[in-house]
Amino acid sequence: MGKTQKKNSKGRLDRYYYLAKEKGYRARSSFKIIQINEKFGHFLEKSKVVIDLCAAPGSWCQVASKLCPINSLIVGVDIVPMKPIPNVTLFQSDITTEDCRSKLRGYMKTWKADTVLHDGAPNVGLGWVQDAFTQSQLTLQALKLAVENLVVNGTFVTKIFRSKDYNKLMWVFQQLFDKVEATKPPASRNVSAEIFVVCKGFKAPKRLDPRLLDPKEVFEELPDGPQNMESKVFNPEKKVRKRQGYEEGDTLLYHEMPIMDFVKTDDPITMLGKMNRLTVDEGDHEWKIVKKLKQTTSEFLECIKDLKVLGRSDFKMLLKWKKAAAEILDYGKEEVKTEIETTPLTEDEQIEKELQELQAKQRLNQKREKRKKNEVKQKELTRMQMNMLTPADIGIEAADIGRDSIFNLKTAEKTGILDKLAKGKKRMIFNEDATQNDDIHIDEDAPPQDRDDAAEANDLEAELDAMYENYKTNKAERNARFRAKMARGGDQEDEWTGFAEKVDVQDQDEGNVHTYDDEDSEQESDGDEAITSLISKLKGKSGDSKLSNKARMLFNDPIFENVEPDLLKVRPSAPAASDESSVPAKRKHVDLEEKEEESSDDEDNSSDSSDFELVANEESEQEGFSSDYDSEEEKSHISKQKHSKEVDIATVEAMTLAHQLALGQKTKHDLVDEGFNRYSFRDSENLPAWFTEEERNHSKINKPITKEAAMALKEKMKTLNARPIKKVAEAKARKKMRSLARLEKIKKKAGLIVDDNDKSEKDKSEEIAKLMRKVTKKPKTKPKVTLVYASGKNKGLSGRPKGIKGKYKMVDGVMKNEQRALRRIAKKHHKKK
Ligand code: SAM
Repeated sequence: MGKTQKKNSKGRLDRYYYLAKEKGYRARSSFKIIQINEKFGHFLEKSKVVIDLCAAPGSWCQVASKLCPINSLIVGVDIVPMKPIPNVTLFQSDITTEDCRSKLRGYMKTWKADTVLHDGAPNVGLGWVQDAFTQSQLTLQALKLAVENLVVNGTFVTKIFRSKDYNKLMWVFQQLFDKVEATKPPASRNVSAEIFVVCKGFKAPKRLDPRLLDPKEVFEELPDGPQNMESKVFNPEKKVRKRQGYEEGDTLLYHEMPIMDFVKTDDPITMLGKMNRLTVDEGDHEWKIVKKLKQTTSEFLECIKDLKVLGRSDFKMLLKWKKAAAEILDYGKEEVKTEIETTPLTEDEQIEKELQELQAKQRLNQKREKRKKNEVKQKELTRMQMNMLTPADIGIEAADIGRDSIFNLKTAEKTGILDKLAKGKKRMIFNEDATQNDDIHIDEDAPPQDRDDAAEANDLEAELDAMYENYKTNKAERNARFRAKMARGGDQEDEWTGFAEKVDVQDQDEGNVHTYDDEDSEQESDGDEAITSLISKLKGKSGDSKLSNKARMLFNDPIFENVEPDLLKVRPSAPAASDESSVPAKRKHVDLEEKEEESSDDEDNSSDSSDFELVANEESEQEGFSSDYDSEEEKSHISKQKHSKEVDIATVEAMTLAHQLALGQKTKHDLVDEGFNRYSFRDSENLPAWFTEEERNHSKINKPITKEAAMALKEKMKTLNARPIKKVAEAKARKKMRSLARLEKIKKKAGLIVDDNDKSEKDKSEEIAKLMRKVTKKPKTKPKVTLVYASGKNKGLSGRPKGIKGKYKMVDGVMKNEQRALRRIAKKHHKKK
């Protein structure tokens, strides 16, 4: 249990308590009159004479003295003594006595009060009913004093409790005032039954009916009308709570009655409604007679033991039994009424009744639906005003509204179709079964161009992930291979390590340009298989229909007769695959593992290793070797910068080539042709190692690049980088939502502060500023660390160096340089910005 609750179970120490303390009011109830005054046209500000009945400890008087015009007369009275309040006349008296009346007259002299306040509460605590009654009497007394002292058109404010006297009091007020209104100011606790009645425009009647202010007359109990016991008996399931407590003179909650009284009664229904149990006197001779009735079943005997738990049919059974018993005992003639009550309805009546019930139900449902829709609309509006709604949300709300419609989004969501629908633009087909079943079938294999942006984005993301994974594994493998190779001796360049291997181990090839063309894209993706099949074709199955005519013709050339398949394997592309199909722009790396196995068979051939890249290029830093692309136009595009080793659509060279191909500037034939250049066939036999090393490093082909291609690639990378991953986007949205919620909260708080009229403008602005500070609070900045170089006098120093304050770090020479470099880079970076 919290500290506050321990102090006071009602949670009395609420904000009004603290506010009252802050403002110097004697009680938190001061805010009740402040709020009432505000709500009802600031009557206090216009009152020159105010009487406060039941004023202790005096907070209402304090408010009055603050709000009323200067030199106003404020008189307060209470049964308990009060500490004096400046400019307020206070006296002690019981407002129900003549003493109080005369004293008040003495203080008022010839004046009339503009406002009479009454916040009296009896100091009793006898119990709810008694307290409420005393309160009502006290209110009537206060009204009496008000009537005596109020000016025409004056105002009377009084506290009353919600009790059965409430309406009576209100009626009396209405006779004396033009306008009577009940209110519950926010400062009044919800748990309290108190309400305040503001009576404005005192009529000041010349003649007053004394009965109007006589508690006996006003609170006189009118005889209660007959209770509707029928509803209790015929509708027992519907329990109406009696909020007023015990009935007059009846202090029991449990009632019993002999069953024979039930037989004799003229009003059995009322009896059944009131009683808890019907008792049986076994010795009663009349009971002995009715006991023999066939209606006196064991069930009946059980039912009469607890009438409060019976249902409609049970009561019917009891009434039937009563009729039979009365008849047998000759009380039958008086049973006409009961007969009428229990007559079962005819079929038509029954149908009519059921119809009416159904209609009523329908009306109720419609009302409920309408209300719900209005609520949703209202909610949406509020959320929109608070900038919390996005168009997507509106869709969600709309789905709620259309819950019962045929195209129900909720159902679609449950069945998983919603996702597919959301993708949109899907080709929807009705297959045979579906047509029969009226089922909608969504074609999963719809062409990719039919997907919408969101789906495409998802796919792209997945593709990127897969590509990245692939890249990581490939890189790891290549690195491992390269390390292994280096361990075996870096210059053993003859080892064949597979097609993709070549890219990293560039020294094995001298920048040959190979083209590879294939019959279909599947073969492209699996170069190994292609090669194997190619070799087997060359090894005698050249008639295979899979080979293009051109290729077949080429390989039928006698020069290939003695060529080993493995040798061919490493030089597969240029002639072999130059058929009519278009040149693929993108190549995938072939499986390295299998290549290695094969390559181990014939190490000599590895020097001619090739790859399945569209175009292989080398470093362009060479000097003294002119490019094959020496035409004027091409020359202008040749860049001196480093090119990346791997050529695909992700490099400027590949992009240039792709552009040229797309624009028709280059044909496949050109590519094939370019493959035969001086870098392609280089004899490395019997050459000194240093020479081959040099060649490998510097004699490389320069591929042309264009500005457009560079720009296009840059754009591509930019869009890729700019697109945040889903999780980042979600986190950002969450953060935004949180800050919005925080802002709204603060707005509300600020609104409350602004509305609080008890605060000075200065207080308000201070509080709001405090709130704002909370929102705009900057995260703590890291303390500055001073770097101390461990040289000179600081060399070998342990502990804090002299003259250094705060955080410090000892750094050595290397670190010093590093720090300098870092600073330099940061500066450069800053300048660039
Ligand atoms: N309005 C007051 C204020 O803000 O300081 C608080 C009034 S307090 C809720 C109720 C007061 O009614 C008590 O101080 C109590 O002494 C007073 N009271 C109850 N019966 C009274 C009576 N018969 N005559 C005068 N005062 C009475």
